[in-house]
Amino acid sequence: MSLASSTGSVHVRAPGKINVYLGVGGRDDDGYHALATVFQAVSLYEDVIARHDDGFSLTVSGVEDVASVPLDDRNLAMRAAKLLAAATEYPGGVALEIRKSVPVAGGMGGGSADAAAALVACDALWGTGLSPARLHDLAARLGADVPFALHGGTAVGTGRGDHLNPALARGRFDWILVTSDQGLSTPVVYQRLDLLREEHGALADDPPMSLDVPIPVLQALRAGDPVQLAEGLENDLQTAAVYERPDLEDVIRQGVAAGALQGIVSGSGPTVALLCPDPETAQDVQTSLREAGLDPLHVHGPVAGARILA
Ligand code: ATP
Repeated sequence: MSLASSTGSVHVRAPGKINVYLGVGGRDDDGYHALATVFQAVSLYEDVIARHDDGFSLTVSGVEDVASVPLDDRNLAMRAAKLLAAATEYPGGVALEIRKSVPVAGGMGGGSADAAAALVACDALWGTGLSPARLHDLAARLGADVPFALHGGTAVGTGRGDHLNPALARGRFDWILVTSDQGLSTPVVYQRLDLLREEHGALADDPPMSLDVPIPVLQALRAGDPVQLAEGLENDLQTAAVYERPDLEDVIRQGVAAGALQGIVSGSGPTVALLCPDPETAQDVQTSLREAGLDPLHVHGPVAGARILA
């Protein structure tokens, strides 16, 4: 008996991500940028519950700003369910319930996590039983960050971020995430980066000639060494994100003053990720930033990718 037929619903949990390294190359003819990135899945999760239905429907609850999340075919989870149905010629539909914890438009891949979770949930609910490789292919068609949300852990992403290779990572890394009420649009941040590179070469990093993840970053992950990783944290989008949101630099400064090793804008922002040497220091940093009126969350990574909950 399949999981779905015994319960009538399937519950999948998928993680948000931090880019501990994000190198951005030039733009290709389609307007996409080449990337060399290291993703780490962290313990801030999206829950997707799939139930049998004749048609396709979606509800979203959770973090305060869910009002901005589309409920139609623009929603990545809805697109994931329909893509799987089309690819497998499944004749029915699904009622999807999304419970969000990852901030919307926060640079942590919440929508991508929803899409990965919806793929896994519908595959189990419908008994379509796709191989991991086929699920990966569908995920890559939905968005560059979706394959990583399926796999989780720590991984190097190249191409548009969707060509994944697992990276060895030992131990646990403690992060304080500082979220913002107002999201940042990923396309706006990339456009700003292009403008800064064109107009003020000195302000923005020049597009790297060769896009490689620096060896010390991979060594730090392999050693489970937060001090070494802190030295290698880098995000080519940070200058552009800070241009749009100058307050992010203050958040990083405050976090480091409170005991974090280093801070970085996560992906296209505006979430700031502060790397801490151990869980106790992370708690101290959290307390200190909360007292300063910010909204800090303590998470750790790496954690698993999209998984069915028993
Ligand atoms: P990106 O993956 O582009 O870095 P992000 O992590 O910054 O994005 P998301 O929360 O994934 O931010 O969503 C970005 C935009 O995608 C939202 O503003 C929303 O309009 C749209 N979107 C589509 N599907 C979803 C979803 N399931 N959850 C949240 N936003 C979604």
